[in-house]
Amino acid sequence: MSLHIAIVGSGQLAQMMAQSGRPMGFTFSFLAEQTDDITCVKGLGDTIIRTDQTPHTLFSQLGEPDVITVEKEHVDIELLTALSKLTNVAPNTRALEAFKNRHSEKAFLQKQQIPIADYAVVTDKASLEHAISTLQKPIFLKTQEEGYDGYNQFKITEDNQHTITQEITFPGAWVAESFVAFDREISFLAARNTKGDITFYPCVENEHHNGTLIKSIAPAPNLPDAINKEGQTYLKRVCETLDYVGLVCMECFLIDDKLIINEIAPRVHNSGHWTSKGVPTSQFENHIRAISGLTLGNTEQTLPCGMLNLLGVTVTARQVEGANNFLTLYGKATKPKRKLGHITVMTHSQAETKTELARLHTIAYSPY
Ligand code: AMP
Repeated sequence: MSLHIAIVGSGQLAQMMAQSGRPMGFTFSFLAEQTDDITCVKGLGDTIIRTDQTPHTLFSQLGEPDVITVEKEHVDIELLTALSKLTNVAPNTRALEAFKNRHSEKAFLQKQQIPIADYAVVTDKASLEHAISTLQKPIFLKTQEEGYDGYNQFKITEDNQHTITQEITFPGAWVAESFVAFDREISFLAARNTKGDITFYPCVENEHHNGTLIKSIAPAPNLPDAINKEGQTYLKRVCETLDYVGLVCMECFLIDDKLIINEIAPRVHNSGHWTSKGVPTSQFENHIRAISGLTLGNTEQTLPCGMLNLLGVTVTARQVEGANNFLTLYGKATKPKRKLGHITVMTHSQAETKTELARLHTIAYSPY
């Protein structure tokens, strides 16, 4: 079986999906916007730049893919719906639509009785003022669409609330969220294939810096079994309700033993990068297997793992060498805060994982 897969997007996630699928005999093409950087996918297949092509023309330019998948949430649902009449689109457009917009995502999760932070929809000054007077501060004001990694977000505090209300311009579509005083952040990753089989990865603990993931530890240390089960139950419910196919990530806050879901990413996820080294089947390979109708691969972890993101900084292999340290650079030009690569570590204890990640963090970030 040799399939041709088209990926919407041309960044490092598309790169790592294609790198996983090519040894399996699959071929790839990529759909990029005119402003997208396409360096990551050079040499991995044709890249088609989106202009005003019809869906039929795009389908043909992409090499008549057997399946189209995505590396990001911000996709053109109308286009993918039209393409889904010509070929398989996985995850399906219902799932992509549900998680493209923070309001529809929250409404969906609430309907599924999955716990989320209190929130209010903000579309004008009056609704903003109402949100400020009712929600727990600091309030996270996030655009309904196109916000990620802390971009397109404002933190409203007692001190800045008056200036923020002047700064936000309308018309606009936002959600305002109550502050969640979490103890830690964790994420659940699962893959579901076309037969409806689901496999989970060990739950991951994540650390963010200015809204962007910087470190992950897997498995999440001392996670109560009940929380693990609860998270997996929610994610399974999400997948089954939407007939989801592919890899999916559910990002959560944990307060004491209470789980609150922050968001769902309908794609491979940065908090799963450690799986490329830490388990027999990476998130990228399981995504490709899932959308190709194959059996899902083994996700059993034998050694504790950690991952450090390289955000706007880079290192040499020599600087971070170690028998169980693995450097992955995406080949992108350096820009502040940009995800340029990551380092995965495998250790014999979670204490060792933390120490090694801290050591690598100093090496990577101290000259800056
Ligand atoms: P997001 O863009 O929604 O993934 O948010 C990025 C990061 O900002 C999260 O991983 C948290 O560290 C923080 N954050 C977002 N929303 C909240 C919230 N309601 N309460 C506390 N921290 C938050």
